[in-house]
Amino acid sequence: MQKYISEQNLHTLIDTLITTGTRVVAPRINAGTPLYEPLTSAGEMITDQLPKRSAKEAFFPVCEDIMTYEKEGQKVSVTDIDPNRFPETVLVGVRPCDAVAIPVLDAVFSWDYKDEFFLERRKKTTIIGMACTTADDACFCTAVGLSPTETRGSDLFLTPLEGGGYACETFSEKGEALVSNHQNLFSEPTNDKAKALAQPSAEKIDLKKVKSWLDDHFEDPLWDGVAVRCVGCGACAFVCPACHCFDIVDEGTEKSGKRRKNWDACGFWKFTHHASGHNPRDLQPKRYRNRIMHKFKYYDDKFGQTLCTGCGRCVRICPVGIDIAAIVEEINNK
Ligand code: SF4
Ligand code: SF4
Repeated sequence: MQKYISEQNLHTLIDTLITTGTRVVAPRINAGTPLYEPLTSAGEMITDQLPKRSAKEAFFPVCEDIMTYEKEGQKVSVTDIDPNRFPETVLVGVRPCDAVAIPVLDAVFSWDYKDEFFLERRKKTTIIGMACTTADDACFCTAVGLSPTETRGSDLFLTPLEGGGYACETFSEKGEALVSNHQNLFSEPTNDKAKALAQPSAEKIDLKKVKSWLDDHFEDPLWDGVAVRCVGCGACAFVCPACHCFDIVDEGTEKSGKRRKNWDACGFWKFTHHASGHNPRDLQPKRYRNRIMHKFKYYDDKFGQTLCTGCGRCVRICPVGIDIAAIVEEINNK
């Protein structure tokens, strides 16, 4: 279904959703930083800056309780956190490099173990993607076969128009329902042209060629070279729309506490630290190798997809300037 929505009507849609009890998450500024966060009104939404962290937090929070326990005398009670409590959510203004990562995450969260926390939020969330009109030097979605108008992952996709407002296209029943339930805010499509879209300048990477090199080069001098500066801070994984590792920890006392699911990162030394003291990834280059292998080989081996959407966040945030696009390009040029 193709429609048009004006800027003002998009704001009315967001405010209507909020006042009727839907959680609306969109890019907004929090203490000077753009982040995807719940809005209290449409006026808070920004559309001109890429949020520092990705939209995955709407489904997979940094930290969440999954169980609580209490002990009174000899009696121990354990209470599961009910995932059904999650509210209906609409994610608005999601960048294509974020939206496309969400179905990539579906594969791992609904594989042998069904992660009901992720899947329940996923079921209750409608994603409104938005085409990018700006790109910086770190963006490389086009190098990994995507684009600033990629619609995969979006239920409804908005393209900003030269004359104002947005061309809308629906891609799922959820997207169609959202339009049908607010028909008065949408009108028939116009002939107006799309605003000039972002044009990332990175060279195209042949992902099959990269994977084929990785298949044969678990051991290679390249790994020492690219990761010698890595300080193992994990920032690259935390900002990434596709990284999804987590750890389960118990926090509390003998009498009461919580079991929590916290983000983790393969860049951390403790990530593979065994109880015996042995660590199979004892050096940082081995940990960084895993990051590249997971994104461009292992995930593809298992799920037939690459685990990088070229959002460039890890490039922007790395405190020592490690550039994953340049490393993959180097492999591509071998
Ligand atoms: S690996 Fe880096 S560029 Fe690729 S999706 Fe993750 S944060 Fe973005
Ligand atoms: S952000 Fe940079 S320094 Fe930190 S773990 Fe990632 S690659 Fe290493």
